[in-house]
Amino acid sequence: MSRGRKAYRAGGIAALHLLVFIALWRGTTAADWRAFAMVYPLAAIGVGVAMHRYFAHRAFGTSRVFQFALALMAALSFGNAVHFAGKHRLHHRHSDGEGDVHAPRQGWWQCWFGSLIDCGYSDTRIRHEARRWLAYPELDWLYRHGALPALLVCAILFAIGGFGMMVIGGCLPGVLLLHQSSAVNYFCHCRGRRAFATRDDSRNNAVVALLTYGEGWHNNHHRFPRSARAGLRWWEIDMFYWVICLFEALGLVWEVQRIDDRRLLAAGSAWKPQQGAQP
Ligand SMILES: [Zn+2]
Ligand SMILES: [Zn+2]
Repeated sequence: MSRGRKAYRAGGIAALHLLVFIALWRGTTAADWRAFAMVYPLAAIGVGVAMHRYFAHRAFGTSRVFQFALALMAALSFGNAVHFAGKHRLHHRHSDGEGDVHAPRQGWWQCWFGSLIDCGYSDTRIRHEARRWLAYPELDWLYRHGALPALLVCAILFAIGGFGMMVIGGCLPGVLLLHQSSAVNYFCHCRGRRAFATRDDSRNNAVVALLTYGEGWHNNHHRFPRSARAGLRWWEIDMFYWVICLFEALGLVWEVQRIDDRRLLAAGSAWKPQQGAQP
């Protein structure tokens, strides 16, 4: 990646944090937090359900219109669904090995921030990994103009409620979700319980799972990457899976990938079916 592009990305991450710090220091209003309450849930679903479970792993099927809506939700956090899909597929292929750009063994800084500033893969490689999505002109456009939707939302919030609403409603969701995602990348590859003997260091971390609406059941996820459900036992709360079930009930998504107990038992390891466990 060019130095200019790295500086742009590092500057963007630093600016978002600085803006949030300034807004909190100046004081916020109830209206600012109402804007946050509207944007954050959509942005969080955009990261967990859209970018990760749909674009990276195709855990369910959907229409072209809702697919674009999912990509726009991901963009609310300054995320780039197609870029993430390409990068994340490579994370799974090289997990905790040489080609994994955010393995904890490369150090906390590289895992938490460094891999976001420079993902370590060329644009050609990302485009190759994500070529399925780039075949859609609207997703190809969004891939090249990933920051535009979030900037547009920021501009609208600024027009409605000024600086505070722009930052608390438009920037804070992206900052929080950045740290939530990096917590998964870091802690879920070095702290927690291993339910399955996968070839990587992935872990199930209950604290991270609660803070990331289910993404912390990461050892389960590395064992069954296409499963729409990361929390496999009844007590492994996975709110993003509930969202997928809601979308399915509403007819927005279909062909939801689920793992039945037979496959879980065949996966061996420490897995034992429990009373109340659902497929
Ligand atoms: Zn992982
Ligand atoms: Zn994944």
